[in-house]
Amino acid sequence: MPGFELIGQEEKAALAALIDNSGILAAHGFNDKRNGVFEVRSLEREFAARMQTPYATAVSSGTAALKVALKALGVGAGDEVITQAFNFIATVEAILDCGATPIVTTIDESLNMDPLDLRRRIGPRTKAIIVVHMLGAVANLSDVLAIAREHGIPVIEDACEAPGALWDGRPVGTLAELGVFSFDMGKLMTAGEGGMIVTSDERLHRFCKEYHDHGHENNPTLPRGRDSRTIYGFNYRMTELQACVARVQLRRLDHMLAENWRRHDALHARLGRYGRTLFARSRPNAEIFIFRPPTAQIKAAALEVLREHQIGTKNLPDAIEWHCAAFWDHAVSAGEVAHSKSTQHHLESCLSIPIWLRRPVEDYELLANRLANLCE
Ligand SMILES: *Cc1c(COP(=O)(O)O)cnc(C)c1O
Repeated sequence: MPGFELIGQEEKAALAALIDNSGILAAHGFNDKRNGVFEVRSLEREFAARMQTPYATAVSSGTAALKVALKALGVGAGDEVITQAFNFIATVEAILDCGATPIVTTIDESLNMDPLDLRRRIGPRTKAIIVVHMLGAVANLSDVLAIAREHGIPVIEDACEAPGALWDGRPVGTLAELGVFSFDMGKLMTAGEGGMIVTSDERLHRFCKEYHDHGHENNPTLPRGRDSRTIYGFNYRMTELQACVARVQLRRLDHMLAENWRRHDALHARLGRYGRTLFARSRPNAEIFIFRPPTAQIKAAALEVLREHQIGTKNLPDAIEWHCAAFWDHAVSAGEVAHSKSTQHHLESCLSIPIWLRRPVEDYELLANRLANLCE
């Protein structure tokens, strides 16, 4: 979340330099006019390097990234794709947009995909799995990936809310067949809108490159207007303006992670026993602290304290309807809605506390004390 709080001089200077030095706002073409400036191509290289993965494709949004990733796996009509009941509607939309059927699992104590339910929900039509690292913390990746491999089903990691989080020291988003990220206004790293697809599979990468750009193969021996093609695609391209801002934000990522952790630690020190399960092999990006007040009465009082401190909540409970499949009777089957009720109840006991980087650590220490006092 805090990426937008820090937008300032560096972004301004980078945008001015782009306009002064090139003035070309599209990722491709105009090679004789752009003075060698390629913001989108540079962002892709830098993002792949930061995430320690070979390939990255920049796209127009995280939702577009999900759609392109599903297409790369060949998801289409008649297929089922399994994701989780605590989620953002974008995953289900991308599945539906491919003509496939969304299936949602319940969640475990990490609030992410419950591997036990995943195993139960796999069937003959399961074509892919989208595991989501919600609110900055990592799902049980070892179990999810092991079950998927047992069945030969490819996995997409939705790391839109978890850039910089780790599993076994490796950046999340890079542990499965494909990973997706978002740079929308609510995300840790933001460019207003934007997304990224990462993979270590050269064939999947090539599909993503072509599909997000009308099927262009970017054949280096041919001008773009004569470019070779084997598939049709769509326009899910990122602009140079977005990439220019995203590059600044990427350079700031480690700083933001460190500052997130100082505030998260302050909350964890007093409220750790009321938090969610964080797997020992994982390191969240610490942009959110989940607080589970022991009673409904304490929850109501905690909400009042969060309001007083002008820290508020993010998604839980304020936007639960966009994040829980129990509310999605417009998009998933009645059976999936019913299956998601236990997840809804689980989420209703949680408050998600946003980490604001413009707020000093002391504010979070004070908040932690007040919330802990409510519980004791
Ligand atoms: C934000 C988000 C998306 C979609 O990203 P956009 O860039 O807003 O399209 C997908 N999945 C999750 C978990 C998200 O939080």
